[in-house]
Amino acid sequence: MELGTPEQPLRVAIIGSGPSGFYAADALTARNATVTAHVDIFDRLPTPFGLVRGGVAPDHQKIKSVTKVYEKVANRDNVRFFGHVNYGSDLSLSDLQQHYHAVLFAVGSASDKKLGIPGEDLPGSHAATEFVGWYNGHPDYRKLSFNLEAESVAIIGIGNVAMDVTRILARTQEELLATDIADYALEALANSKVRRIYVLGRRGPAQAAFTNPEIKELGEMPGADIIVTPEEAEPDPLSAAYLGGPGADRKDIKNVEILREYAARTPEGKPVQIIMRFLTSPVEIIGEDRVEAIKIVKNELYQAESGELRPRATKETETIPVQLIFRSVGYRGIPLPDVPFYDFQGTIPNDRGRVLVEQGSDQVVSGMYVAGWIKRGPTGIIGTNKPDAVETVNMLLEDVSAGAVWSPDAPTPEAIPALLESRGVRYVTWEDWVRLDGSETERGIALGRPRLKYTTIEDMLTALEGTRSPSGD
Ligand code: NAP
Repeated sequence: MELGTPEQPLRVAIIGSGPSGFYAADALTARNATVTAHVDIFDRLPTPFGLVRGGVAPDHQKIKSVTKVYEKVANRDNVRFFGHVNYGSDLSLSDLQQHYHAVLFAVGSASDKKLGIPGEDLPGSHAATEFVGWYNGHPDYRKLSFNLEAESVAIIGIGNVAMDVTRILARTQEELLATDIADYALEALANSKVRRIYVLGRRGPAQAAFTNPEIKELGEMPGADIIVTPEEAEPDPLSAAYLGGPGADRKDIKNVEILREYAARTPEGKPVQIIMRFLTSPVEIIGEDRVEAIKIVKNELYQAESGELRPRATKETETIPVQLIFRSVGYRGIPLPDVPFYDFQGTIPNDRGRVLVEQGSDQVVSGMYVAGWIKRGPTGIIGTNKPDAVETVNMLLEDVSAGAVWSPDAPTPEAIPALLESRGVRYVTWEDWVRLDGSETERGIALGRPRLKYTTIEDMLTALEGTRSPSGD
């Protein structure tokens, strides 16, 4: 019998239900797909959508509507969702090998990059990813607390995550009320004493990682002035040459224009000041037993062999008193049991989505695939994950044709729920999630908000018991 036909469907397990997991499920099960495939999507949380739920800023509700696309995929007959199932403890690789022809890891990047400077781990110095998880009600982070008694905060890095964190710190209560920010974060931010937010870029305005809409948004905050000095907004000679040359990126040109306009503004005396700093690197986080200041060094740019403009420290330093620091210098993947890992990059080594025994090897691990940030690193926007997932699925389908995937003993749809039940795993189905989603939305509407999230796994499971229909289905 040929694999990938109605008689013998291809069975694929996808680990992770964020954008890349859903785009991979879509590519495998779309009506025009070249094979008949059954896909089970697993997530360690009871809730789907990965960073769309736990990462995208709550004041960017429109971006979150991308979940409508994922809902359509989940509603297909040949797609199932198993939430609250942890790969590595509830299900092992050998379990998957017994029940599927292939596994596709789409687990994202759950950790953060380190700066490697003294004081980095002082209380009051946090990874921005922790704050993001906290204000988004992610169960792993909801118990954290942040010193919002701080008057001055430094954010290190100028990517879009830094922009998100800056906005959330600078938003008024009224603005936050219109979002689905976690209720405890809403309350904590209502009492925030934050008045100055320093946003520190190690390179210049022409190399900023933020995108145009995000830097524009910072200039339109009802409760915050944006401040940048004309000297720092002005590109250095190397950057000016780049911007005037044929290879200049539109995004970079526009970013510089926006920052120049900010430099020309007179602050209106709004409650919060967002102070953008360029060509500055942190060298030390200072404090006795908690953060008291950050020491930064002035950088200059030089042209690296690759042609890229890189930062280099000068001798000029400066110390800024701050009581809270967010390190927003990028995410990093974490290793999974029985799966190769490329520690240098924090990714799973792969060739176009086929997992390799190690980075640089040409030997693939049969039946194992990756998509999204754990495949390529933490870059790009949500939509970037679509072509990325399609590329991986194409590799998988090539391997199916070549007979190079797993030959499971028990490839029946019933076997997995039976196995999970036998292990006492309370998995959450798509129907469960639809009920939970409805309950969160109802709770939100009652408060005039888009949604009021459940933020502990226990509360989610309890809520599900409460919303179960009398027939128990
Ligand atoms: P990112 O875009 O890679 O930005 C990381 C920032 O950290 C850069 O400014 C980088 O500077 C800086 N950095 C790295 N190492 C540093 C060091 N040792 N010292 C000082 N600065 C350092 O990462 P991200 O902000 O975490 O975002 C991840 C991805 O998600 C990005 O693709 C982003 O666009 C996307 N995202 C999008 C949105 C949105 O569309 N609204 C929202 C959030 C995230 P260099 O450039 O000099 O390396």
